[in-house]
Amino acid sequence: MTITPAERHEKILDWLKNENLIRIDELTRRLNVSAMTVHRDLTSLAQQGLLEKVHGGAQLPDLHSVTVEVCPLCHMPVQKRLQFILTTKTNERLRACCAHCGLLLLAQRDDIETALLREFIYGRIINTLHAYFVSGSRISLCCEPSVLAFSGQKDAVDFQRGFGGQVMDFQEASTHLSDAHSVHRSH
Ligand SMILES: [Zn+2]
Ligand SMILES: [Zn+2]
Repeated sequence: MTITPAERHEKILDWLKNENLIRIDELTRRLNVSAMTVHRDLTSLAQQGLLEKVHGGAQLPDLHSVTVEVCPLCHMPVQKRLQFILTTKTNERLRACCAHCGLLLLAQRDDIETALLREFIYGRIINTLHAYFVSGSRISLCCEPSVLAFSGQKDAVDFQRGFGGQVMDFQEASTHLSDAHSVHRSH
């Protein structure tokens, strides 16, 4: 029995929904096709953003990756609750440990297409450009100065009332960090 590419794609996505991650050899067995065919299927699905190819297999394109990643800037492990996700124009995904490194990375690179982050209170993924930040509060969970992200100005101000620091919008936070960083470096 042969099945069409569209049917294979549907099956792969169905399995992924239940299993989150599938290995290529498992797919070749289940679909009874060559590894080459599976690779082609996965590439096509990945191009549509329906899955992510990982070493030896594929996984659902979620933002809650289970693998431990290291921040490209400070080399600290990326904490899920603070992560900052940058996608480049060539579809490369960079995860920074926290908003501190995320904003610096965003300022340093000119090939970033989207920047998402996890806001501090509810843990929702939001667009960095619309986030508010509190820099230098007493709550320091990753890099110094601590930078925490909030989905609205009111949340940021309420947080600042309790824990100190400065409330900033995206542009202010970005400038503030780049300045602080260059001063730090020159010493
Ligand atoms: Zn970092
Ligand atoms: Zn950090």
